[in-house]
Amino acid sequence: MKGWTKAMILVCLTAAVLIVAFFFFKPQLAQEHRGAITVANPYNADEEVSQALEQLKNNPETAMILTGSKSSSRQIALTFDGLTDRNTIQQIIALLQRYNGRATFFADGILAVEYPETLTDIQNAGQKIESYTLVGQSKMEAMPIEKLVYDFCRTKKIIRENTRQEPALLKCNDTKYTAQVLQAAKAAGFTYVVQSDVLVNVKQFSTPASAAAVVASLRPGSIVSVRLKNKIELFANEQKKKDVQPAVDKQPGLKEISQPSVGEKEVVRAVENLLIALQKAKYSTVYVEDIANHNQTTAKRLENRTAFASLSKATSFLQEQVLGLLSCRTAYAAELVDHKSQEIKMISTTEPALSYTFGGLAKRAVVDDVLNKLNDLGIKATFFVAESEMRKYPETVRKIIANGHEIGIAIVPKNGETFDEICKSIILSRQQLQEQFGVTTSLVKQPWGVVTDTTREAVAAVGCQLIGQSLNIIQSKHKDYTSAEQVINEIFGKSKISLARGQIVHFRMDFYTNDKLVADLLEMVKQRKVDNIAYATSFDSPALNHANDSSYRLKPVGEILTNKKYIYQYPVDPSNVSERVRNNGRGFPIDQHNFLSEVEKRYIGNEDVTYETSILGFSKMDVRRLDKQGFIHTEDNVIFLTFDDWGTDAAINKILYVLRKHQVAGTFFIITHNVAQNPNLLRTIAMQGHDIGCHSDLHKPMVVHDPRTGKLTATQDKEEYTQELAEAYQKLLAVVGDATVNGRPALTKFFRPPALAISKTGLESLFADGYEYSVSGSCSTNDYKAESVPQLVKIMKDGVYTENGEVKKGAVLVMHMTDRAAYTAMSLDILLTANEAKPDSDPSKFKVGRLSDYLIAGYSQIDRKKTLQLVHSSGNLQK
Ligand SMILES: [Zn+2]
Repeated sequence: MKGWTKAMILVCLTAAVLIVAFFFFKPQLAQEHRGAITVANPYNADEEVSQALEQLKNNPETAMILTGSKSSSRQIALTFDGLTDRNTIQQIIALLQRYNGRATFFADGILAVEYPETLTDIQNAGQKIESYTLVGQSKMEAMPIEKLVYDFCRTKKIIRENTRQEPALLKCNDTKYTAQVLQAAKAAGFTYVVQSDVLVNVKQFSTPASAAAVVASLRPGSIVSVRLKNKIELFANEQKKKDVQPAVDKQPGLKEISQPSVGEKEVVRAVENLLIALQKAKYSTVYVEDIANHNQTTAKRLENRTAFASLSKATSFLQEQVLGLLSCRTAYAAELVDHKSQEIKMISTTEPALSYTFGGLAKRAVVDDVLNKLNDLGIKATFFVAESEMRKYPETVRKIIANGHEIGIAIVPKNGETFDEICKSIILSRQQLQEQFGVTTSLVKQPWGVVTDTTREAVAAVGCQLIGQSLNIIQSKHKDYTSAEQVINEIFGKSKISLARGQIVHFRMDFYTNDKLVADLLEMVKQRKVDNIAYATSFDSPALNHANDSSYRLKPVGEILTNKKYIYQYPVDPSNVSERVRNNGRGFPIDQHNFLSEVEKRYIGNEDVTYETSILGFSKMDVRRLDKQGFIHTEDNVIFLTFDDWGTDAAINKILYVLRKHQVAGTFFIITHNVAQNPNLLRTIAMQGHDIGCHSDLHKPMVVHDPRTGKLTATQDKEEYTQELAEAYQKLLAVVGDATVNGRPALTKFFRPPALAISKTGLESLFADGYEYSVSGSCSTNDYKAESVPQLVKIMKDGVYTENGEVKKGAVLVMHMTDRAAYTAMSLDILLTANEAKPDSDPSKFKVGRLSDYLIAGYSQIDRKKTLQLVHSSGNLQK
């Protein structure tokens, strides 16, 4: 769930405020007002809370959602959400009287305690008072059900004690009415919760004209709610206060809540504008309950909707309602229908960490063995425990917890189990975990069987996350295998060289005939598929060098999920992608007249790419006009590092570490075909400050040498190729479209031609797709063919230095990020370490540039003089 931690922090913060508040609240006020309330503990609702929890356990029913109804008469239900200071409320009441209006005031418990006379004023004026929860907190669906029950019961008591009337309606501020919220409401004694059709802030009708516009957009029968204050400010104020004042002194912070976000006069004037506009439009205002009870069909529809939200949708009766529901004008109902938890098989994170998860507690000896091994290896994992296992093996569960591991809930829905039943079983498991073991969790796993939509909806409805797996280590065909070696060879084969960031690896502990196998396996998987990701050479390894942070850690699922520093949304939200990055395909107009001159500017070549070997569609004359050297124009001792293709974490993480170690940036030209299988790795490259370029989707060169005819021939026609390049860009966009480095997009419009071969139609497709530069380079290191580190270091040096030992300014090294390029990271480390050892005054010391600092608008490979001026004046050069 997004923002879970944040929500929890806010919840905790609010809870803390409330606890403090209830100790320090002006008891004399309450005393003056109601003799019946004892000063010591005026609003203790412990009894109500425990009754409600009991009911929840035995008979969890859900409250119904009340919304407006379609009405032929011009009525709306007007509500004011949240109290404000007494003076403002008094003026609003007076206005209602003057304009003959009725309204429902949703009162928040905490201000009801502070200004109980306000409630009396409202009551005496004949207006209604209902519950707006303790502080009108938003996003209450993220709160644990116990907290919800506490909040609802407590507020109810406060209002009852101060008005001698039981509130019948509950309204939560900006909250999804999930099954959990509805159950808590019902348990606290609310049959209905209220969902506004229209929610407005006073600022929206601060002038008569804007009020008229708001009213013109209303539909008869709607519930129209006016929010009297801005809740976001509550938290902002609280946090500010928390920083500068002792924790215990919360009162000043709380008082700020009572200040309306706009001035008192403005609020009153706005409300008057609204009431006048309503009168002009011939609307009358009624209480919420009057709208809902307006006619029989409304009440029936409401019940159906609630039934749909919280119960099985399998019956034909309810299926009939689906169309009606989807056309329902409260967007909320539709959202409830669509709300499913995605099964998380790989966590979208750039954190260098992955998870082991375990399930199946039946064999005590195996669990012990696993726990010992995890301890030896320093691994914390996530154990998914079924409710039946909590009952059968409480000692085992305790031991897992005592060893510092995370607990999640395992569910195994039976065939045809309904939404309601699944919700109930998750809620019961959570409750049992909490009561029996003192553990709270929001992680749910269905260890086997197909995960149905109903299950995903249920998991989401109770505010949990559904955890899947990237890799299941235990497979039924291996049941009687005896050695870890056997299992690993079959599961990983030759191609799966390493695991990846964000992956979830699942082990069952109750499956193998050989009890020792699981512990052996978890160790061997770590050694062979996780430890091999780290950069560990004889001169620099995590074991010897504390600063070497290239290892991946094994951490509990929940810990990775809540580490917001690294979590990202995949695919990225298109609205976070800048116009320039998004608008591929609209680069610059190109036609037969300017094509060649554009290619001259935008093609950075390579000496091995010639008319005879790998250029198709250009005349010999034209080819002479194209760049062959592959150097970027610069007068500084700058070189560029580029990496092609794609690889595993084991290959790419090592390169990233070396670049990080020497604080230099490179450009990664990606083959996009397999990126969707490991988006975290691509995202990591971008987040570590490197340029991302494209190297096509399928790595088909624009032109190949046909051995049969001895001629150069295209691999795809123009249309296919245009399509492929566009697709490749879209794949990159989905992972790094919103990533920026120093405020600039990480995703560039640079292309590296596969095999460096080019054709006229290929380049036409490229530019038509919006790519801006085709970058080969001055030095093909052929690193994937290298046989040793010294050999590759020599090639790199030849690429960087002239025979006289001077830096080849603007050199572009072409390297690879594939697993076959096994010596690249280490050779680069040696090259960069030697360079760093030189004094700055040494003319043979180079800097590493970023292509995106040089290949900016106006850069021309054919016009060196102009480009140099451009690069210098732009100030983009690396320091
Ligand atoms: Zn390639």
